[in-house]
Amino acid sequence: MQGVDTNRAACHYNTNMGLTHDISTIKLKYRELFELAHQRMLDLFIRLQASHHCTLCTSTPASVDAVLHPGCGYRDWQKEVILTLENTIGKQILESLERIKASREEKGACHQCGVCCSFASSPFSYAQLQQKAAAGDYFATQFTSVFLPYESVEAAKARFPELVTEIDAQTDEDVHYYYCPHLTEDKRCGLYNDPRRPQICADYPETPLILMYKNCGYQSWKDDMLPTTLLAHASLELSQYYANKILDAVKQSENAH
Ligand SMILES: [Zn+2]
Repeated sequence: MQGVDTNRAACHYNTNMGLTHDISTIKLKYRELFELAHQRMLDLFIRLQASHHCTLCTSTPASVDAVLHPGCGYRDWQKEVILTLENTIGKQILESLERIKASREEKGACHQCGVCCSFASSPFSYAQLQQKAAAGDYFATQFTSVFLPYESVEAAKARFPELVTEIDAQTDEDVHYYYCPHLTEDKRCGLYNDPRRPQICADYPETPLILMYKNCGYQSWKDDMLPTTLLAHASLELSQYYANKILDAVKQSENAH
C-alpha cells in the first residue's frame, strides 16, 4: 500500500509512520537509533574541538551551541562543526539513503499483487491534495494525476477489510483512501509504457519507511534496510537541529558585540 508523503523534504516517518502496521516497533527502534546517532554526533563535536583553542577561556565551552565571547578561539570550532554537518555529514546521509534505494531490486521484487495501486492512504483529503498540487507540490501533483479517492472509508473497507481495520486501530487521525483506476484486471499497470505514468509509481517503494502490505515483494528489503534508514533519518534530524542551534549562537555572539 502506498503512503502519501506530500512533504518529501521532511523525514518520511513523520508523515507516514502513524499508519504502518508495525508502528510501535518502528518508533521504539527509531528512539534507540536516535540515541546512537546523537552520541556519535556529540563525539564528533568533541573530536573537532581538539584542534581549536582559546587563550582567554579557562575551560572548553559548555556546549557546541554556547554563545562565545568576542575573539574566542572556539568560534572557529563552531564554524567547523556547521560546515562538517552541512557538507560531510549531509553528504554521507544522502549517500546512505541512495544506497538503500539502489538495493531495492537486489533484495526484493514486485510480485504484482496490485495492493499498492488499489489501496493508498493519506492524511489528506482529495481536495487538500488537489490544493497542494495546484500549489506545485511534486508528490501531490503526480499522485492526483492518477489516483482517485474511494467513495467512502466503508468502500475502501469493503475491498481491504483487514488493512482498514489495522490502520483504524493505529491512528486517531482522519485517513483518506485512494485507488488507481489504471490497474488492469490481471493487476498490471495500464499506463506502464505511457508517458502519463507518474514517476512516483516507477520509484515506488522509494524508502523502507512506508506502509507496506505484508505480502509485498519488497518486504525483505524493507526489513533489512529499516535500521539503516532510521539511523540516516535520525542523523539528518540531529544535524539540522545542531546546525540551526549553532547558527543562532553565532548570530547572538555577533549581535552582542
Ligand atoms: Zn574563548
